[in-house]
Amino acid sequence: MFDISHFDVGQAETTDWTPTTPLHQRLSGDDCPYFCEETTLPDRGKRLKKVGQRNYKRMHCEKLALADSLEAAGRDDVANLLRNCCSQLFVDRYTKGVRVRGLNECKHPLCPTAQLARARRQYGATVVAVEKLLSTTADMQGLLLTLTVQSCPAHELNYRLGEIIRAFGRLMSFTKVKQAVKAYVRSVEFTRNAITSLWHVHIHACLFVSKAEYFRRSSKIYISQEQWAALWRKALRATYDPVVDIRALNGLVSPLDERGRDALCEVIKYQVKPGSLVYWESGRAYAVGRQVPELYRKPGSDKLEPMLNVPVIAFCDAVKGRRLVATSRNLQGDETLDFTDDPKGEVKAIDLGEFICTEIYQWHTRGRDADFFLVGRTFNDPDQPGKQGGFAMGP
Ligand SMILES: [Zn+2]
Repeated sequence: MFDISHFDVGQAETTDWTPTTPLHQRLSGDDCPYFCEETTLPDRGKRLKKVGQRNYKRMHCEKLALADSLEAAGRDDVANLLRNCCSQLFVDRYTKGVRVRGLNECKHPLCPTAQLARARRQYGATVVAVEKLLSTTADMQGLLLTLTVQSCPAHELNYRLGEIIRAFGRLMSFTKVKQAVKAYVRSVEFTRNAITSLWHVHIHACLFVSKAEYFRRSSKIYISQEQWAALWRKALRATYDPVVDIRALNGLVSPLDERGRDALCEVIKYQVKPGSLVYWESGRAYAVGRQVPELYRKPGSDKLEPMLNVPVIAFCDAVKGRRLVATSRNLQGDETLDFTDDPKGEVKAIDLGEFICTEIYQWHTRGRDADFFLVGRTFNDPDQPGKQGGFAMGP
């Protein structure tokens, strides 16, 4: 019926199948491009297109690729969390915009959608606190401080992350720093070099200083780039000179405006750069490290041994129970800061207009193709649970 040579099996599937796999095994199951014609699936409905800039299909494919890697490494619990995360999406349509909600959001730092949701929450909370600070304290200037450590292999990632977080705490406790810095937001970011397999952990910190005091001629509290580097070296207890960068953030001044918000958003946006842990090939997502072994420890063992799927599990182990974004105490949303009395301090909810309907999309796999397909609509306003608007099945 089909001539195999017409299909790009070899190229797309070399990462999945060893050449010794019998042909009939290659041609069965979910990965088979031949037997899963569209007609065999009941869900020939409307697909979820991109919502704004967000491509949920792409993110779900990345999630599943990470889940495969976790499962192969014996981390079934996290793998299942990711697999079940947002396999159903609710798209609330309004006259002026769209809102997307997911079912069973996993909240795991590895998950692309959880990362989005967390960044949004963190940004919301931080922007409120910063806005409050900048509206009550005139003459503030935001600085962006980038602190790095030497790159490390995956098996050192957990230790290095702890080290950089502790060192940042020490840096902020130094008298010279305390005199200059009134408040800070810090975020730990990871990148992985695909060629060397080394991880690069660094901190982006947004520091707030008093413009007049700090930048004044003959200012005693000004800290030059060289001094920052020396302080960071001391905090890190390093035997090398770590790379440090300090610059003023345009727009991040009192009072906070749109440019300042954007600058702040940049600081807390990513923990791990999208793409560090997943790569795409011939339209499919794969987790990095599923083919090339790296040294790592099995759970409960001290011995380093070559293992597959190391990048994903190393990240998973390193971030467990750690705060990747943190702020100085005066920026924490605690009882000393009450935003309710200050209307300007509240984050403005985006005006979405009138509610129209909610579309329900379900993740379905169709051979090698997979997507979110429309399975139903409901007219019940999610923000008004009492009011029944009706439900319609089918696209
Ligand atoms: Zn998730």
